[in-house]
Amino acid sequence: MGNCLFCKIIAGEIPSTKLYEDNEMLAFLDINPMSPVHFLVIPKKHISNLFEVDTEDAALLGRILNKAQELAKTNGCEEEGGRFIINTKSDGGQTVDHLHIHFLGGRKLGWPPG
Ligand code: AMP
Ligand code: ZN
Repeated sequence: MGNCLFCKIIAGEIPSTKLYEDNEMLAFLDINPMSPVHFLVIPKKHISNLFEVDTEDAALLGRILNKAQELAKTNGCEEEGGRFIINTKSDGGQTVDHLHIHFLGGRKLGWPPG
């Protein structure tokens, strides 16, 4: 946690382009966007990945998902949609060990993932 990139973004030690912030979550643009709209929503509480979420965090996760859908809509993706992604551990391609929801929108996405 001490060396967590996203905890440093939350603490303001690393800059980010914030879309939304409150006492429990932060939404910011992905530094390496994979689509015209690509942002991340994270809990301020350090949770390493989705496997580490316990029942007390369920309501927080719900609010984070709700914020992600709201931001997807306000960023122009209400009509065409997009994809909400939670990469989890190595097989899921997770590179930052702080739970985050990606939203990708603004272009047609392929399926299945590679
Ligand atoms: P994942 O591969 O699911 O763990 O996603 C981590 C994401 O964090 C990647 O899409 C990166 O581009 C993104 N990322 C890494 N460093 C930063 C940063 N400093 N600011 C914003 N996004 C970042
Ligand atoms: Zn963290």
